This record gives sequence, structure tokens and C-alpha cells, in this order.
Amino acid sequence: MRDRLLLFLAGILLPVLTFAQTPDWPRINEEAMRHFQALVRIDSTDPPGNETKVVEYVKQVLESEGIPVTLVAKDPARANLIARLKGNGSQKPLLIMGHSDTVRVDASKWTFPPFSATRQGGYVYGRGTLDDKSDLMAALMTMLMLKRSNIPLDRDVIFVSEAGEEASTGPGIEYLVNEHWPEIEAEICLAESGGVRRRGGQAIYATVETTEKQPRGARLVVKGPAGHGSRPLRTSAVVHLARAVEKIAMWEPPTRFNDTTRDYFEKLANVSDPAEAARYKGLFDPQKAPAIREYFAVNEPGTYSLLHTSISPNIMQAGYQVNVIPSEAEATLDIRALPDENISAFYETMRKVIDDPAVEIVPDTRNQRPGAAPSRIDSAVFRSIEAAYKKVYGVVTVPYMSTGATDMAFLRAKGVQCYGVGAMTDEEDAAKGFGAHSDQERILEEAVYKHVQFFWDAVTAIAGSTKR
Ligand SMILES: [Zn+2]
Repeated sequence: MRDRLLLFLAGILLPVLTFAQTPDWPRINEEAMRHFQALVRIDSTDPPGNETKVVEYVKQVLESEGIPVTLVAKDPARANLIARLKGNGSQKPLLIMGHSDTVRVDASKWTFPPFSATRQGGYVYGRGTLDDKSDLMAALMTMLMLKRSNIPLDRDVIFVSEAGEEASTGPGIEYLVNEHWPEIEAEICLAESGGVRRRGGQAIYATVETTEKQPRGARLVVKGPAGHGSRPLRTSAVVHLARAVEKIAMWEPPTRFNDTTRDYFEKLANVSDPAEAARYKGLFDPQKAPAIREYFAVNEPGTYSLLHTSISPNIMQAGYQVNVIPSEAEATLDIRALPDENISAFYETMRKVIDDPAVEIVPDTRNQRPGAAPSRIDSAVFRSIEAAYKKVYGVVTVPYMSTGATDMAFLRAKGVQCYGVGAMTDEEDAAKGFGAHSDQERILEEAVYKHVQFFWDAVTAIAGSTKR
């Protein structure tokens, strides 16, 4: 009888408890789409940015739910927003961040006006739909849902709407880190990068950015005798430079893996077709690796760049008149260093590869970003992110190293464990011109909804109280 009574009570109480903890997704989806469209409709192209317009919208949404916000701005037109939900302090804070600016548009190329957030055929079109108003919206929705549900938190959850990601870190992440560090200091951060890949309408895997290459640079400078163009000189600065550029561009810097790239290739092999899988696995086989690296150099430059510090000669300058042999020639190199690269030693190796005393390597010390160790992939936090992707999309998570640079570099340098996450996109879409930064940037409506679910699952797992 007592058992029956307990069963009876459980029958009443359990659904109530579950209901209290499971968000009302249809309602949340409607609300998420409304905020998302509103954010996309605010023109915050950078330059000039005008992120304050975005922040004013976000501020009003948060404050109307009783979440206090602080606006901090180096430039009044380019405000950042910080909001914090308090936890019990037993663990250090979690920072969730999205950037409020977008790259510029050429409005004449767009089928739907770039700030219309038009919904058409299961997509939302507009500048910033992928980069990065989807993350901003998902982080905002998560704050609202945390506040409403009153879920006990072990960690404070800090939300940041960040200015200036696309064109100038000065009013954004650098200002936040240098002038407002106590307000955003966190142990863990979720920010942009990464996301879920779909192929043929099927989600195949998720990526999480755990580290990135460091932009470095150098110039090759050659001085030589000037002369009359009718009497060619083998000592010409132009000839020396051309030879040096060819040597450095065809050189294969030493391959080196880190925990992230090793795991990336191993896990990617499991979700790839047999030929691709064989190549990814073969990278670790000394017999097969050289031919595979050559294949990547020709066919997959993005993959090839993951293997080593890369060098791309991107600007060349020499000469001013056809009949004059110029006395100086110069090439500017874009060097993307592995996170642990000893750059002075690398320049020294470059010198040996070029093997020409006439060519001087001048390191570029401008725009230095701080270096940092990769974020951990063997932690409970990473496992929470993996579990959230698994639950929402049914896919495995692959950690990856970005060959580009993100604002997470500044946070990692302060010791924050940063994970770059993102919404679902179709692999085919970027090639068709619908990707981030392209004309016709768009996102699947389904991806908008799922991204909120992913954020909610990840944030509650990372910051939610374990003593619930
Ligand atoms: Zn972005």
C-alpha cells in the first residue's frame, strides 16, 4: 500500500519536477528567433561598428527580466556589455561571449537586404547571421533562461557582448582585458569559432576550437646595385628576392602535432570517407606521411597549414621604372606560428633555408597577439561540451586548432580555458556563397533553435550546481 502510495506520488511529482527543469522549447524558439532577427536588423558593420546600438537592445532585454548590466566603452559608439548571474562561488566563473559587430556588406550583391533578417525556405538571411549574432543571441537566451529557471549555479555566469572583433580589437577584447578584467575574469570561456557540420542534410560532427596559430610576420629585404635596365645584373635585388621567395614558399617547415591536432585528425578519420580517413591516419605513419603532406599542400591548404608554422609571401615591392634596375626589393610574409613555436629560432631556420647573405629577414613586431597554451581537451568542461553536442545533434566533437586568429587569444593569455563553439552549417553552403563574411550570409532556422539548446545544455552542465 505504501509502495503504491509512493508510486502514486511519484507519478504526480516527477512530471512536475521534470517540467520545471525542461525549457518550453516551442516558446523559447519563438523568442530566440525574435531576438535573433532584431539583432541582425541592427546595422553594426565594422568599421565603423556602432555596436552601442546592439548593446542598447540587449540591455533592454536583460533589464526587463531583472538582470543588471554594465556598459563599458572606450569609444561611446562602441560599447561592450557585461552582465553577471551569481553562483554560490564554489567554482570560478564561466564567461559566455558573442561579438556584436559584423564585416561590411556590398548591398547590391544581396538578394535579400543584408539587414532584413528575411526568413525564406528554412533559412534566415543577413549579415551576421552566422558571424556572430547567432552566438550573441544564444548567449543572451541562456542568460534569460537561467534567470527565469533559478537553477542553482556553482559558478557565476558572465555574459559579454563584445565590440570590435572584426576590424579592431582596441575598443573590444583588448579594452575589456586591460581595463575591465575583474568584471570578466573567468576560469572558462565559450566564444565563437567551431560549430556543427552538416553534409547532405545530415549532421556529421562538431568542432570546438581549443587553440589557434599566432599571426607573426617578417619582411625579406634585399639591397643591391642599381643600374641600367639594358645591362642586366645577376646581383639585382629583384633576382635575389625572387629566389628567396620561391625557396621559402616551397619549403616545408617541420611538422609538429599538439594534443588538439592529434585528436583532430584521429577523430576526423572516424567520420570521413575511406580515402580521407586513410590520409588523416597516414599523417602519423613516417612511411606514408611525406606523400600525404604533399597531397594536402596541393589539395587542402587549410589542412596542410595545421601541420606546421606556415609562411605565405603576400606583398612584393620593387622597382619604379622599366629601364631602371632598382637597388631595393622587399617581400612581406604572413607567418602563422604553431602555438608553441620559438619564433626567433624559426627565423634562424628561415635564414638557413634562404641561404643568401644578400637577403635580410626583418621580423614584424607590430600587431603581436599574446601566445598561450591550448585549452584542455581532457577536462570535465570539454566533456560537458561534447555531451551537449551529442545530445542536441547526435554527433561527436572534434577539437581543432584555428589557422586564423580569434579574440580568445587574449583570454587564453590570461589563463582562461577557452572553447570556440558555433551553430550548425551545411558544408556545401560556403562554396555556394552562403557562408560567413560572404554575400548572402545565411543560417538554417533549425540551427538557430538548436544553438540555443546546445548553449543551454553546455552552460547548465558547466556552471550548474552539482549539489542540486
Ligand atoms: Zn566572428
